[in-house]
Amino acid sequence: MTRVYNFSAGPAALPEPVLTQAAEEMLDWQGSGMSVMEMSHRGPQFTSIMADAIARLRNLLQVPAGYEVLFMQGGALGENAVVPMNLLGGKTSIDFIDTGEWSKKSMLEAAKYAQVNVAASAADGGYTRVPPLQSWRLDPQAAYVHICSNETIGGVEYSFTPDASHLGEVPLVADMSSNILSQPLDVSQYGLIYAGAQKNIGPAGLTIVIVRADLLGHALPFTPTAFNYQVVAANGSMYNTPPTYAIYIAGLVFKWIDEQGGLPAIAARNAEKAALLYDALERSGLFVTRVARDSRSRMNVTFHLRDDALTAPFLAGAQARGMVQLKGHRVVGGVRASIYNAMPLAGVQTLVAWMAEFEALHG
Ligand code: PMP
Repeated sequence: MTRVYNFSAGPAALPEPVLTQAAEEMLDWQGSGMSVMEMSHRGPQFTSIMADAIARLRNLLQVPAGYEVLFMQGGALGENAVVPMNLLGGKTSIDFIDTGEWSKKSMLEAAKYAQVNVAASAADGGYTRVPPLQSWRLDPQAAYVHICSNETIGGVEYSFTPDASHLGEVPLVADMSSNILSQPLDVSQYGLIYAGAQKNIGPAGLTIVIVRADLLGHALPFTPTAFNYQVVAANGSMYNTPPTYAIYIAGLVFKWIDEQGGLPAIAARNAEKAALLYDALERSGLFVTRVARDSRSRMNVTFHLRDDALTAPFLAGAQARGMVQLKGHRVVGGVRASIYNAMPLAGVQTLVAWMAEFEALHG
């Protein structure tokens, strides 16, 4: 069996020990005589899997008391509608920080339910940085302020947390789909965090929501019951059948993160991987990143070849060397190396070595 270095933006590489354990337990989970996929979600085995996964996630992120951790479905794009339905209450507008493609999608969806204010935008710089906090024009009457903490397509990430001293009483909502669990997080700064699972958490199909309990209970009347956070919380994320197998794998990923030394250790590894790649880009005369230094994503490293005609041969050579899914998103072009938690340092070393070899040939 040959496994590739998978640089996919998501669904993305999973830690190999997780896949190995899942394979071993596929037909018979811990003597139950069943696959996890076959279990009743209300039975004792799955109930314990669910409780373990939620407890591990709470512990990893040090989620404070007074926050609910919900396992939902519908993905991050679903949350773009579900969040306003649940959090608007009597308010009529939402402040958005526009940092790229995923922010834009969030705004478009929210505009069905509320007035959307662009409090700051990085559009004029081609979405290559996070607008500095001092430039945000926030409305104290907004229902919440929405950010995308890591723009998966552009490769732009927040290096700071917009805190209450800037936001006042207005809750901060973050789409953390592509950088959750990549470093320690101060959950108390947020009213709500959401993330699709298919990068750092597990398989697609599971959506994580972490929400401050006092924000619950204001859902608009037309909110589907299965997407009413208060109902989901009151039912322990089992109002309807949760994505059981995805939750099981997520639990194994949380255990794997613990075994690596938790989020501080994971963050150090991620910093090392990202530095290796960005340093190579800084040194190169052939490869270049457009993203501003203070906004460079540790998860999705986007770059271009100065001569775009060389992009296709670079990608083909990478593929031949066992590195796949490096093509940049069509909106940005070039190359995108997604180096989430499960990407080993050796994968980034292999990529950097191929970049040097390619530059020696073509530079
Ligand atoms: N937000 C971000 C930051 C993402 O990276 C993605 C998926 N790549 C989405 C939203 C959309 O997520 P989903 O497909 O789970 O709805």
